Amino acid sequence: MDNTILKPNGVPDPDALYSELEARIEASGRTFDIGRIRAAYEMAKRAHEGQNRRDGSPYVTHCVYAADIALDMGLDEDSIVATLLHDIIEDTALTHEDIAREFGSTVADLVEGVTKLTRVQYTSKEDEQMENMRKMLLAMAKDIRVILIKIADRLHNMRTMAYQSPEKQRIKSLETMEIYAPLAHRLGMQRAKWELEDLALQYLDPTGYKEIMDTIEAKMPQLDQFMETTKEKIESGMKAEGISCTVQHRIKHIYSIYRKMYSQKVDLSGVFDLCAFRVIVDSIQDCYNALGILHYMFKPVPGRFKDYISTPKPNMYQSVHTTVIGTEGIPFEVQIRTWDMHYTAEYGVAAHWKYKMGDAVGSVRSGDEDKFAWIRRLLETQQESDAGDFIHDLKVDMFADEVFVFSPKGDVINLPNGATPIDFAYSIHSDIGNHMIGAVVNGRIVNLNYILQNGDIVEIRTSKSAPGPNRDWLNIAKSGSARTKIKQWFKRERRDENIIRGREMLESEFKHNGMSLDLLSDEAVYSPLLSKLSLQTVDDLYACVGYGGITATRAAHRLRDEALHLGTSDRKTAIDKMTEAAERREQQAKREQHAINGVLVEGIDNCLVKFSRCCMPVPGDPIVGFITRGQGVSIHRKDCRNYLNQSAGDNEARWIKVSWASQISNSYVTTFTIAARDRNGLVLDIATILNALNAKVRTLSARTVSPGEALVVVTLEVKSATDLKYIISRIASVPGVTNVTRAGG
Ligand code: MN
Repeated sequence: MDNTILKPNGVPDPDALYSELEARIEASGRTFDIGRIRAAYEMAKRAHEGQNRRDGSPYVTHCVYAADIALDMGLDEDSIVATLLHDIIEDTALTHEDIAREFGSTVADLVEGVTKLTRVQYTSKEDEQMENMRKMLLAMAKDIRVILIKIADRLHNMRTMAYQSPEKQRIKSLETMEIYAPLAHRLGMQRAKWELEDLALQYLDPTGYKEIMDTIEAKMPQLDQFMETTKEKIESGMKAEGISCTVQHRIKHIYSIYRKMYSQKVDLSGVFDLCAFRVIVDSIQDCYNALGILHYMFKPVPGRFKDYISTPKPNMYQSVHTTVIGTEGIPFEVQIRTWDMHYTAEYGVAAHWKYKMGDAVGSVRSGDEDKFAWIRRLLETQQESDAGDFIHDLKVDMFADEVFVFSPKGDVINLPNGATPIDFAYSIHSDIGNHMIGAVVNGRIVNLNYILQNGDIVEIRTSKSAPGPNRDWLNIAKSGSARTKIKQWFKRERRDENIIRGREMLESEFKHNGMSLDLLSDEAVYSPLLSKLSLQTVDDLYACVGYGGITATRAAHRLRDEALHLGTSDRKTAIDKMTEAAERREQQAKREQHAINGVLVEGIDNCLVKFSRCCMPVPGDPIVGFITRGQGVSIHRKDCRNYLNQSAGDNEARWIKVSWASQISNSYVTTFTIAARDRNGLVLDIATILNALNAKVRTLSARTVSPGEALVVVTLEVKSATDLKYIISRIASVPGVTNVTRAGG
């Protein structure tokens, strides 16, 4: 829109401004439904009623200006409508539904997409973070038009940035430079990119910007004359060789001069090509012909020739570049391209709405594999279908297998699609994962199997006393690295468990044999055994006993033999004690029946005792024994269904009296089932309580049995029925839990 007619520092009348837009739409010759666009304007005007921009103009004028930029970019009707409405969800009471009702879900989705991008918190970071941020915006957008509308919005905001506070100018300019200009570049939209960069530079380095502007201004009469004569020279040269062409000239955009000054550490007089020329021809053949003519007319600067026609840039850019020296001794750059290439260079991905693509598409396709394969695929689709389908298909799918989320500090974390808070936690640090007790996404507690969405803000709750990863996590985690870290934990953690168990077993074996525990810290005693077993440390030995690499009895005997063999006095004392204790123990054993696994079986010594899997009794439960065929005595609870059902009849005689021994040091495995109303965080709450009670949970599995109803099965080790009762009573108090039952009861 012509800014001389619509002065942004006056207060433009919205309706007059909008009529201007309508006129421009009609002049563009595109077949838009003007009624629909006007309805969008009316809705925006009503919704933003009473809101003003910083310059005092009614807010809706921003929407009209942005829509005008979108029109100039060549966007389609839905995009123009959505641009008029783009701030409605963010800044007014109207919702997605309101927009969808009036303009359809496509427009509503576009507006919502822009709103989402607007809400992304920007913080300046290192380059890699910026690239992730850009990718995330692209991925969040889902529909590429959301990004294009956002760029139009940003462009107008940058054009009117003068009215903002210095702080806001700085932040928005940095964001423009780091996010939006690179996005425009990636989408091949050179015009938008240049303008965004120049506007941003104006606020980021006002002095540098002014220096360049002043110099250009001072040189302008000279440059103008030079450009005019050179242009005519090129035109007549081409004409003489029968090539029809259009020659354009311009001063290079400020930021590109600025960058050259700083990257090549030259001052402005050393930046030799301030002006650039463009020769636009009808065919690729003519591009190369024109190049030859140009090199014949002017002296080329060696090493400055680049052929982006045979090798297009990743953003589809195609042209031949060369720098030559004019008769005045001034070097200048020339870009040679076809019209198709020209539109693609100016408008990038948006060029596909604005102009029909010809040969350029084919030549892009023959290029190397690049990041823009998705655009090529879309272009191929375009050739086989009409424009409507093309727009529909133009979804950003290049990050389909990735998801981008924020840490609470604003870092963007890139995870595989389908990733969960578990993946997130382990991607930050193994320790975070291993100590995770819960996750909060966008301020709400979620289950650990929640599938992360683009733009989610993820916070991991940890606790020093967290029980560590659960085996289920291996199925929930999506990323290989998280799974590897969980497996490592189990391996290491099992080792810790094994060490503890092995030490307990060995110590109890020592006690049984009356051996002094000092032997376990006597290197002369244990080192022969270690080397025999190829172990490094005593902990290794414990671990070995713990997982059954050597039995405790055998290890104790070996150590005793070694001690006897060495036979020092200390050791002798230890061995004497050992012998005494062994005798005492034998006598005790004679007095009392054997307790096996903490259970006394009446009338039978030394029989095999095992605990039934159906009811899993623990010390304190009333119990009864069943003589199995060949597998010793199986211990059941007296309230076990199997006992109640079979205690009479054929098997009556096989049930025998058993009781718990008076001293029990082991813990016992048992299971209970929790019925609950399904809700977010249920399993987490249960796990947290179990953890708080220091329960030794072996497994915990949850499933939904019917809509809204969940069953959680917990298998754990306890020392007594009293402990178990307490744990169950605490679980029963978790909100939503309706019932807790022990197995077999
Ligand atoms: Mn806006």
